[in-house]
Amino acid sequence: MKKNIKLAKLAGFCYGVKRAVETTKKLKKENPEKEIFVLGELIHNSHVINELSSLGIHTVDELPDNGDGICIIRSHGAAPEVFEKVKQKGYEIVDLTCLDVKKVQQKAIQLVEEGFLLIIVGKPEHPEVCAIKANAQTHGEHVIVAPDTDSLKEYEDEIKKHKRIGVVVQTTQRIENLQSVVNYLLPFAREIKVFNTICASTSMRQAEAKNLAKESDLMVVVGSKKSANTTHLAEILSGITRTIHIETDDELEKYNSLIESAQNIGVTAGASTPDMIIANVMNKLNNY
Ligand code: SF4
Repeated sequence: MKKNIKLAKLAGFCYGVKRAVETTKKLKKENPEKEIFVLGELIHNSHVINELSSLGIHTVDELPDNGDGICIIRSHGAAPEVFEKVKQKGYEIVDLTCLDVKKVQQKAIQLVEEGFLLIIVGKPEHPEVCAIKANAQTHGEHVIVAPDTDSLKEYEDEIKKHKRIGVVVQTTQRIENLQSVVNYLLPFAREIKVFNTICASTSMRQAEAKNLAKESDLMVVVGSKKSANTTHLAEILSGITRTIHIETDDELEKYNSLIESAQNIGVTAGASTPDMIIANVMNKLNNY
């Protein structure tokens, strides 16, 4: 019997990633004589990074000192000191921080300024979270980053002391995680202000994928293992149905027996997965 293979409508680039990739390429096209640097990977996808490099766009962790050219701030945003340093080196800055990430930074600053103990729900090492924290800390010291309820426990004394608690969340987190953090904090707080800053693109993608998973006996999630939103998708879906997370179609053969035994297969992809990679996966699945 022919397999029923369905691709989620919201698979692939979100508007923030699309804007970052398209603007970066356009900048190089319009300024072929200028050196263009991206501080950190523009998006978490090695295919896109290689493509940018083939166009002469450099991905760097540290900018050369000569200050010659354009420096792109990626969609994750950056700390105020980073902007300052880039300016001091003499680069022209093109800020491609996603507008949804900017909103989280603003809400975080607002909470710190209003005197709340700020809790950022997210992965401490993730560049978006580091930038939110750094922006908030220029307005006040009391900031805690915690990926989940368990990691908040070590800050219990500090939380009890403050009683006024403000919460923001990394744009690509799971709503269930935010809910459990808020439930944990409630008994300690006299006042609690929560901004649900999970971006619309992430919530809609997760909701659609969950529905697709309910009618599928196998879900295939396509995207980098380094991408937070892609890994969260795979985590969520594995609680609903059998789920595999692959970076490209090459990995499909590892799962041959799973794929062969599945009748209804759903496919979704993270916000940093290019259309071409998704199309290759669909092609291969359709040929099983
Ligand atoms: S996942 Fe959301 S916050 Fe992140 S770049 Fe895309 S739209 Fe912006």
